[in-house]
Amino acid sequence: MVTKKQVESLQKDALKVSKLILEYVEEDAVIHVTSHLDADGLAAAGIIGKSLKKLGGLFRIRIERWIDERVVNELVAEKPSLTIFTDLGSGYLDLLSKKLSNLPIIILDHHPIVGKLPQTFIQVNPHIHEIDGSRDISGSGVAYLVAKALDETNKNLAHLAVVGALGDLQDKYAKRGLGGVNKNIVEDAVNTGYLTLETDLLLFGRETRPIHKALAYTMNPFIPDISGQEDKSLAFLINLKIKPKQEDKWRTLRDLSEKEKQELFSALASHLASKAFSSDVALTLIGNVYTLTREEPWTALRNAREFASLLNATGRMGKPSLGVALCMGERGEALKQVNAVLEENRRTIAKCLNWLNEKPNRIQELNSIYVVRGDNFIDEKVISAIASILSTNLPKPEKPLFAFSVIPIENAAKISARASVRLVNKGLNLGDILRVASEKFSGRGGGHNIAAGAQVPIEHIESFLSFVDKLVTDKLRELTQ
Ligand code: C5P
Ligand code: C5P
Ligand code: ZN
Repeated sequence: MVTKKQVESLQKDALKVSKLILEYVEEDAVIHVTSHLDADGLAAAGIIGKSLKKLGGLFRIRIERWIDERVVNELVAEKPSLTIFTDLGSGYLDLLSKKLSNLPIIILDHHPIVGKLPQTFIQVNPHIHEIDGSRDISGSGVAYLVAKALDETNKNLAHLAVVGALGDLQDKYAKRGLGGVNKNIVEDAVNTGYLTLETDLLLFGRETRPIHKALAYTMNPFIPDISGQEDKSLAFLINLKIKPKQEDKWRTLRDLSEKEKQELFSALASHLASKAFSSDVALTLIGNVYTLTREEPWTALRNAREFASLLNATGRMGKPSLGVALCMGERGEALKQVNAVLEENRRTIAKCLNWLNEKPNRIQELNSIYVVRGDNFIDEKVISAIASILSTNLPKPEKPLFAFSVIPIENAAKISARASVRLVNKGLNLGDILRVASEKFSGRGGGHNIAAGAQVPIEHIESFLSFVDKLVTDKLRELTQ
């Protein structure tokens, strides 16, 4: 539960930061915004970009995978008057302090805080107020609080923070809903008329795709023999006697009657049960649909979860500026391009999932963890999405998953880790585990309790994974004592 007092203290920090931003805007200083590559980070960059533009401020936006020496050195070389980090920064204060502690820096983040804040830095972060940053507010949510403090009419950006929170999979409340501070942001978006809520089956492309495609595109939860499999999805529908077409037009989920939807849900639930999934998984197929009412009907941007997938795809397929442009309101040609990027991203992910399933040793079970071996086959850019998808599809959800792929030109391995809500509630913290383990093997890592990442030199990957397995084993033993 997040109390009113906690929200107010977070807003107070946002107000302080907004005053500082205004001072720099009035001096005509060029503000450097550095944000994270995923949907939440791109939405955060869009929110800050739009707010600065409205004020007539000068700014530039840079999108990064993570913070490392290169990012820090580039910033040092540019000597920016003011830097704003969004959706990253709080986990790497020591690294930032080493070279940047004489520069004014604003951090708007929701990652757990690691290290000491130098005097020239100012930070808005829910963890300072004991608000859970992995669930109750995202990076774009924090950026939104600052935007609203800058100008109350920026409330019309609240829907972008809803997109960011959904991109970070923060919909952990009843009926796949957003809660905590996110709930207040949802209210703002509803009040401005940009967002409506309803409950329905959560298939991907509910208004925009033929039902069998919407089934095949659904990856959260991952449904074996349905996710990624259009032919089998079509056969599944026909078997249920649900007509995929009305005359010669494909029907969408929206066109189904309540009775047909009920039958579809029951059949999917039985299918999941036949694959030994608990009934909790089937329940995640029904929940809150967040509709962005100002977007054109029949476009992917109309559904906030699909908007987030589009943003993730732009970031991961090397087109983050397209994602930022969408958040800043560009449509037309940008929307066409982004649909192509989404398709490419989807095909890449499907290819990787098939490859992993071809041989049993590609997903390996150790004592206390699963290891997904992407090796050189899976591109570092999609390993994060693969980890998220597979984590909803584990035979034993009491074991966390560590997926890795190789970045050959950097001689490094990228690791993405995911845990179940149950494990996190027990006390497991993947961010801590990856930080400790990667530092032991000359790498760097961190993140949330439920989702974390790291990079380590490639020659250490096997010893790193054995060490992670040992850390998780020890931790779980300690927690069950
Ligand atoms: O850096 P950031 O906080 O934005 O990223 C969080 C990442 O963790 C997202 O990529 C999100 O999809 C992932 N995640 C996940 N499973 C969860 C929570 C977050 O895969 N339960
Ligand atoms: O890259 P991936 O989506 O797996 O990252 C999961 C979470 O871990 C994200 O919130 C990301 O910002 C964080 N992370 C981190 N340090 C890294 C890599 C990822 O804090 N070196
Ligand atoms: Zn985030």
